[in-house]
Amino acid sequence: MRSIFILRLLNFFLPLLCGICGREDFFSLKTGICKRCASAARTSKPLYRCNVCSSPLVVPLAVCGFCDSRNVFFTKVFCLRDRNDLLGDLLNKLKSNNEYPVSIFLSLGIRRTLRELRTLGLDACVLLPSYSKNKIFHPDLRPFSPSSRLYEETKRILKIPLIDPLIKTSQERQAGKSFSERFFHAYSAWKIKPNWEDRCPSKILLLDDVFTTGASVNEASRILKKNGAKSVYILTYLRVSD
Ligand SMILES: [Zn+2]
Ligand SMILES: [Zn+2]
Repeated sequence: MRSIFILRLLNFFLPLLCGICGREDFFSLKTGICKRCASAARTSKPLYRCNVCSSPLVVPLAVCGFCDSRNVFFTKVFCLRDRNDLLGDLLNKLKSNNEYPVSIFLSLGIRRTLRELRTLGLDACVLLPSYSKNKIFHPDLRPFSPSSRLYEETKRILKIPLIDPLIKTSQERQAGKSFSERFFHAYSAWKIKPNWEDRCPSKILLLDDVFTTGASVNEASRILKKNGAKSVYILTYLRVSD
C-alpha cells in the first residue's frame, strides 16, 4: 500500500502512463507499461541459444550456422529480449519520441544481465553512434541515443567509463536495407578517431538498441579490435530472431 502511495506521488511529478496504450495501473507506474501490454509483449523462451550471437536454436549446437560461417569479431552478444512486433513498435517509439516510460520497460532485466557481465572485467563501454531522424531534421535537438538508458545502468552497475572512439562516416541508415546490403554498407560506416588509433582498451562493451543481422556491431568490433581491443561484448535491448 505504502509503495503504491510513493509511486503515485512520483507519478504526480513524472506521470507514468502505459507507454503503449496510455492506461495507468500498478505495472505502468513501476515499469512504464501496463500489465495487459506487458503480457502481450512476452516472448517464449527458446531451449538453446548460440554461444556467440545468442540467437535461438532448435538443436543443442554450440554455435549457429551463421556465426560458424563468417568472420565474427565480437566475442558474445547479450540481448535483454527477443523482439516481437509489439516490442519492435516500442523501440520505434523510443527512437522517435525519446519516451521515458518506454525506456524503463525495454531495460527491465538489465541489472541481472549486468551483474553477470561483472565477472568479465570490462574496461569501457561504447555507444554505437547512430543518426536519429529528429536530429537530422532538427539539428538543434539535444543528441539522443535510444541506447542511452543501457549506458546509465551500465555506468551504475559496472562503473566503467563511456568512450567514444568511433566516428560515423556514412549517414545512411541500416534500416530498410536487405540482409547482404547491410554487410556492405556496414563496412564503410565508421572510422576510428585519430586519438584512439591502436589505443582501444582491452575489453569493451558495445551498446546498441537492437541486434538484427549483427552487421553493424560486427564491423564496429572489427575496427575496435584492429585498434587494440582484445574482446568486444555486445548488449542490446532486443534481438531479431526470425
Ligand atoms: Zn498498456
Ligand atoms: Zn550465432
